[in-house]
Amino acid sequence: MLVGSSKHLLDVDSLSSDQIRDLVENAREFRTLRAATQFKSDILRGISIYTLFFEDSTRTRVSFEHAGKALGADVINISASTSSVNKGESLLNTSVTLDSMGVDALVIRHPHSGAPHFVAQHVNATVINAGDGAHAHPTQALLDVMTLEEAIGNLHGAKLALIGDIRYSRVARSDIIAFRKMGVEIAIAAPATLLPNDWTHGVNSLGVANSDVTVHGSVEDAVRDADAIMCLRLQLERQSAGLLPDVNEYSRVWGMNSQRLALAKPDAPVMHPGPMNEGLEISTDIAHGGRSVITDQVQNGVAMRMAVLEHFCATLG
Ligand code: ASP
Repeated sequence: MLVGSSKHLLDVDSLSSDQIRDLVENAREFRTLRAATQFKSDILRGISIYTLFFEDSTRTRVSFEHAGKALGADVINISASTSSVNKGESLLNTSVTLDSMGVDALVIRHPHSGAPHFVAQHVNATVINAGDGAHAHPTQALLDVMTLEEAIGNLHGAKLALIGDIRYSRVARSDIIAFRKMGVEIAIAAPATLLPNDWTHGVNSLGVANSDVTVHGSVEDAVRDADAIMCLRLQLERQSAGLLPDVNEYSRVWGMNSQRLALAKPDAPVMHPGPMNEGLEISTDIAHGGRSVITDQVQNGVAMRMAVLEHFCATLG
C-alpha cells in the first residue's frame, strides 16, 4: 500500500523513496503474474484511459496500452497527428473535450515541458505524464530504478554513470531525481553544450541540486569504477542548431563502446531508455551484448505502468 497519495503522476519529484519502493514492488508482482499466466485482471474494469500523444512513441504508448488492458481498463489511443489537433485545436480544448467524454485518466506526452501540469489544472481526469519536453518522464525513471536494482542489488551508494545529452533529456532529469532518492551516486559526462547551461549555480535548469551529481569532462572519467551505465539518446529534435558540430565526432568522443565499458566495474550493466541511435551514443555490440539490460527495461516498462495505473486509477470511475 502506498504511503500518501496524489491524484496525478506529473513527475518523480513528488514521490518519496518509500512510494518508489512500493511501486517497484507492485510492478514486480505484476511482472510475475504476467509471466506465469495469461494474466487478465479486472482491477480497472469500468475505467477509461486515453493515451494522448503529441510526440512519437513506441515503448511508452504501447506499454501503457498493454498495462491498462491487462488490468481490465478501456484504453483508447489518440495520436495528435490524426486528431483535431491537426486542425489547430489547442491542447486545452482537446483535453477539455476528452474530459467531457468522461475519461478517467489521460496519459499525455507532449513536446512542451509542463504541458501535462497545465492539463491537470483544467480537467477532472487523472493525468499521467508520459514525457513532457526536456522536463520529466516519471514512469521511465521508475522502471529504470526497478531494472537497475534487479541488475546490481542494493542501490544505496552505487555509482551510476549517466552519459550523453543531459540537457535535453527528460529521462536524465527524472532519473537523476529518482536515483538520488534511492541513494545512488550519479556521475555525468556530456559535452559542455549538452549540460544545463547554469550548471555552476546552485540548482541548475534541470531543477536538480548540483551537489546531487558529479560532472566529468570525459566519458572515461565518469565510467571508471561505475556500477552501472545509462546511455542517453541524443535529442536531435530538441536542439537548436550549432550545439554539435559533427555527430561522428560526438560518437567518437562521447559514445559508449567496449573500451570505455571496460573501465566500469566488471559486469556493470548498461541501460538505455530507447529509442537508440545505435552507433552514435552506443555501439551495436554493447547495445545487444551480454551487459545490456535494455530489453529488461522494456519488459519492466509494462509491469511498472501496470503498477502506476493501478495506483493512480483504481479508485476512479
Ligand atoms: N523514450 C524516451 C523519451 O521519450 C527517451 C528518448 O526518447 O530519448 O524521453
